[in-house]
Amino acid sequence: MTKPRLKVIPLGGLSEIGKNMMAMEYDNDILIIDAGLMFPEEEMLGIDLVIPDISYLLENKEKVRGIVITHGHEDHVGALPYLLPQLNVPVYSTKLTRGLISVKLKERKALEGASLKTVPFGNKITLGKFRVEFYPVCHSIPDAAGLIIETPIGTVIHSGDFKLDYTPVGGEPTALSRLAQIGGQGVLLLLSDSTYAELPGYTPSESVVGETLDRVIAEAPGRVIVTTFSSLISRIQQVIDAAVKHQRRVCIVGRSMTDTTRIAIELGYLHPPDGVLARLDELRGLPNNKIVFVTTGSQGEPTSALVRIANRDHRQIHIIRGDTVVISASAVPGNEGLVNKTVDNLFKQGAQVLYNKVASVHVHGHASQEELKLLLTLIKPKFFVPIHGEYRHLSFHARLAESVGIPKENIFVLEDGDILELNPQSGKITGKVNYSDVYVDGLSVGDIGSVVLRDRKMLSKDGIVMVIIAINRQTGKLVGRPDIISRGFVDARESSDMIDNSRDLVARVLDHGGTRPSDWGFINPKVRDTLSKYYYQQTRRRPMILPFMVRV
Ligand SMILES: [Zn+2]
Ligand SMILES: [Zn+2]
Repeated sequence: MTKPRLKVIPLGGLSEIGKNMMAMEYDNDILIIDAGLMFPEEEMLGIDLVIPDISYLLENKEKVRGIVITHGHEDHVGALPYLLPQLNVPVYSTKLTRGLISVKLKERKALEGASLKTVPFGNKITLGKFRVEFYPVCHSIPDAAGLIIETPIGTVIHSGDFKLDYTPVGGEPTALSRLAQIGGQGVLLLLSDSTYAELPGYTPSESVVGETLDRVIAEAPGRVIVTTFSSLISRIQQVIDAAVKHQRRVCIVGRSMTDTTRIAIELGYLHPPDGVLARLDELRGLPNNKIVFVTTGSQGEPTSALVRIANRDHRQIHIIRGDTVVISASAVPGNEGLVNKTVDNLFKQGAQVLYNKVASVHVHGHASQEELKLLLTLIKPKFFVPIHGEYRHLSFHARLAESVGIPKENIFVLEDGDILELNPQSGKITGKVNYSDVYVDGLSVGDIGSVVLRDRKMLSKDGIVMVIIAINRQTGKLVGRPDIISRGFVDARESSDMIDNSRDLVARVLDHGGTRPSDWGFINPKVRDTLSKYYYQQTRRRPMILPFMVRV
């Protein structure tokens, strides 16, 4: 009998940024790591979210022992509200991560029945044949973890998202000594964060940003408005610290920012001294240079507080001369346009705007090349799989691993759905599980197929043409010429001749059909074909054509 092998099956986050999820399977046990979501790419029009496909897990439901979450970012926890109702297994995480998960589940009404368990750093939990220990890592959210997973064929280390900040703000530095210890005992497989594997050198420490924020808040002539990710709690702490030092009060604006700061204070991850935080109405009468706002909107999200302020659309806060706005975040790829627009609007309103290109007001939360090499060297794994990143990030990371001496045949660049099977001596990609992205559109999950996406693409590119065809109820013949209404296709006035011609064209085509015009199976394709050819000849565009029939 052949011994079971360890299967490593990425279900999200490989060859893409976001919706991280990984399954590990040995014999009759499956362990899941993370369950994240991804915000849609630009070509996925109208889609709210993308989540991992868990068909494989549902097919093997009786094997799944639990979900282990590395940290509270959306790309690691965001799919839980959609997946837990289908796959009700316990969820293990550190304390703050658990707090953030329960907020998410509550929002989506999925908290009831969920089994959330807190695991302190250093403790071990047993999930079937897997034993999992959480170790602290530095990242852009407190309480982030990496995982030491004991399996029947050897130890696996999952880095989570991490960087090696020796002077982090709050929280512990990445547990290098523990990793060195484990590395010394021999590690079968390392799975490591590749998000910034393109960047040479070291990622700067959070404390660099603290100094900049302190200077900005000290010197600003008027109010200071700082925007960052609501989960970047250490950054909010830095703003509070600087505000205290320069006798300013801090007002938190925006719902997600208010929610996360509340939970972070409750759980002891954010420490505002008494009397520093203020509600908006408590700021009345304070001089402008005694006020700091902390708001959402660092990604230019249209409904966020900062964007509404920038558009003069916020009910309580308007930009006044002398305001300084600090964008203490980097734009997530795809959001650059929105962020730039917001910055422009803020300048127009008379604000001074500081962002990463003009001042060091942000450092990111992922390891750069030298840090990645350090981790690889410390752990010296037999096998290596780069995770969390697009294909180029994974490739860069694979090359780094080779450069520090890991044999090429032991490095696997995987894609979502691949099955990697390992035994203590060798590894091989043996197949693929059923895998496709699952789209979440408003409240519905998974029923938006590629047909819908294609339609939306067409609508956004070339517009829509509606053709209203009147048919005589008795004779089945066409009445008059069809009406044509277009949106987003051509300027109706400039192209009135073309539209007029196309009405004649449809009338002629339908007249030739004898009594068949009343037959929808004839009209629908005929009208579409005729118009699509004609419009393409005229405009090189392919609008969506929607014929309607009315009987008169
Ligand atoms: Zn993260
Ligand atoms: Zn991440």
